[in-house]
Amino acid sequence: MNYQPHPEDVRFVLHAVLDSTPQLRALGPFAEVDDALQCQVLDEAAKFVADVVAPVNRIGDEVGCRFERGEVHTPPGFRAAYRAFVDGGWPALSADTEHGGQGLPGVLEAIVFEWLSGANHGLTMAPGLLHGAYECLKHHGSEDLKARYLAQIATGESLATMCLTEAHAGSDLGQVRTRAVPQPDGSIQVEGSKIFISGGEHDLTPNIIHLVLCRLPDAVPGPKGLSLVLVPKHLPDGARNAVHCESIEEKMGLHGSPTCAMRFDRATGWLVGAPHRGLAAIFVMMNSARLHCAVQGIGLLDAAWQKADAYARERRQMKAPAHAVRAALAAPTPGANDPDAQQPSLIAEHPAIRRILDTQRSWIDGARVLAYRTAVQLDVAKHAADPKARERAQRWCALVTPVLKAACTHQAFHGASDCLQVFGGHGYVRESGIEQVVRDARVTMIYEGTNEIQAIDLLVRKVLPDGGAAMSGVLIELRDALEAARDTDADVQRRLAQLRYLTTSIVMAAQADPRLPHEVADDYLRVVMLAMMAWAWARIDVAAGAHGSGDDEDGRWSRPASAFRRHVLPEFDMRLGMVKRACDAVTGARAAG
Ligand SMILES: Cc1cc2nc3c(=O)[nH]c(=O)nc-3n(C[C@H](O)[C@H](O)[C@H](O)COP(=O)(O)OP(=O)(O)OC[C@H]3O[C@@H](n4cnc5c(N)ncnc54)[C@H](O)[C@@H]3O)c2cc1C
Repeated sequence: MNYQPHPEDVRFVLHAVLDSTPQLRALGPFAEVDDALQCQVLDEAAKFVADVVAPVNRIGDEVGCRFERGEVHTPPGFRAAYRAFVDGGWPALSADTEHGGQGLPGVLEAIVFEWLSGANHGLTMAPGLLHGAYECLKHHGSEDLKARYLAQIATGESLATMCLTEAHAGSDLGQVRTRAVPQPDGSIQVEGSKIFISGGEHDLTPNIIHLVLCRLPDAVPGPKGLSLVLVPKHLPDGARNAVHCESIEEKMGLHGSPTCAMRFDRATGWLVGAPHRGLAAIFVMMNSARLHCAVQGIGLLDAAWQKADAYARERRQMKAPAHAVRAALAAPTPGANDPDAQQPSLIAEHPAIRRILDTQRSWIDGARVLAYRTAVQLDVAKHAADPKARERAQRWCALVTPVLKAACTHQAFHGASDCLQVFGGHGYVRESGIEQVVRDARVTMIYEGTNEIQAIDLLVRKVLPDGGAAMSGVLIELRDALEAARDTDADVQRRLAQLRYLTTSIVMAAQADPRLPHEVADDYLRVVMLAMMAWAWARIDVAAGAHGSGDDEDGRWSRPASAFRRHVLPEFDMRLGMVKRACDAVTGARAAG
């Protein structure tokens, strides 16, 4: 079965839970974007994803990309699907109308990318960096570069890449060696090799715009000496530039996306942003890529859940557990002619399987609340007239984006693996299609900054420098939002307060032992995510209650709500305890010393 977007679920989160329309309409450019327009866009997108993108997912995995004499051929059907994507105006959803975009809120784009990723992760990798490249060029490109490339990127007529990684420089970009040599005409000659470049070469668009991290001759060593250079595959006069794909990787999954080793042979390019300020420019791209990565995780988990849910509703096995328990306890059993006792039951009714399905559903729904809230905050950070509102929104995005990237991609892989379990042996063979989701999802924990790097980014770069003040501000914002929604969920309030206290403990312990934050960063990120998920589920409860029981038919919202509290949230206490013990060990040791 192919992935199917469900706009009604997304609308519930966007409108009933987050009440996002008034927030968006208060921003100048989106004054006209009412509920009806959003619904229309989402309904059309759902149809496009289901009819055009999902059907070529399987062939993308089975045939994969081919490398022949420097050229990369994408799987059958990908070119037509990408063309339809461009013709439908989907790449340009949130780009400015002056560049051929549709000027819609970024949150709609994030939702469409979630669906695209669920339907076909491999194909979605191709336009995955367009939005980030657009923002990067718009904010840091020269007028000349913008005039030449911005519209091409906004409309998807040219695809873009992010060329950072080198064989010896992955997480540590400060080691990048690719050379950038200024030319008398103001251009830059780029020389060096990059690896693992998604979409470095392909047949989807005639031109490819590479954004390359490299080093000018007068650069200082380390990350502060990096510059960003735009290198097109074809130069403005149509000539082929000296940038070549040397090979593509054989990978565990994501076969529909070419992962390329690229060679820059004194290729011609132009600086984006100031010399040596490349990281600042590329971070514009990486932040939006990280949120996209989080929604990729949500889409992939939803794809796995949909498959597992459908299978569990048709597979019959064993007797219902109540009979087995009665038999085990030698309790009076229903008569031998009890028809129910004779029948194998649907595995969807078996508590162990129900638990897997409802738990993963609780991750998808809760994470959507947080991801869409973050996407709305990105819109606010860009367009709000009030500088205080922009600053608040930026604070939220800076802190929550790494949390979402790491937690949603972690859950995509582990949750997809749990969904595979629902199929038993039938999940391990290719026919069911679920093993592809598990293989495809794995890389999301690695690229766009590994999940360990996200945790360090959160704790060491964003929480510690101001002594936890920004994080405290975000948690107070969440508390106030609950109070405004008249949800005085004491349990959630307690957890938000515990997290504030924990943050202070880490700040203090870090002064005693600077290694501690690195040691507890992953656990801390997890605590933050779980506290925020508890908040998200409190909001969903309120919204589902306000909508009356009709919206909770078949326990649509109440079942995952219950699974979240019983099977997910207890991890909060465990992780909190782990971090606290690590802090106590350090501060206790100092006190004792
Ligand atoms: C399919 C695919 C597509 C990709 N697409 C692109 C692309 O388009 N453009 C691009 O530039 N790159 C791309 N990458 C590269 C990707 O971003 C890197 O693989 C990633 O950043 C990790 O770098 P590395 O592989 O060198 O691992 P390393 O940096 O060597 O890391 C190895 C391990 O050590 C951990 N580690 C490293 N440093 C630290 C630290 N300071 N603290 C804690 N833990 C640490 C990491 O988390 C990881 O677990 C892609 C990779 C893949 C597999």
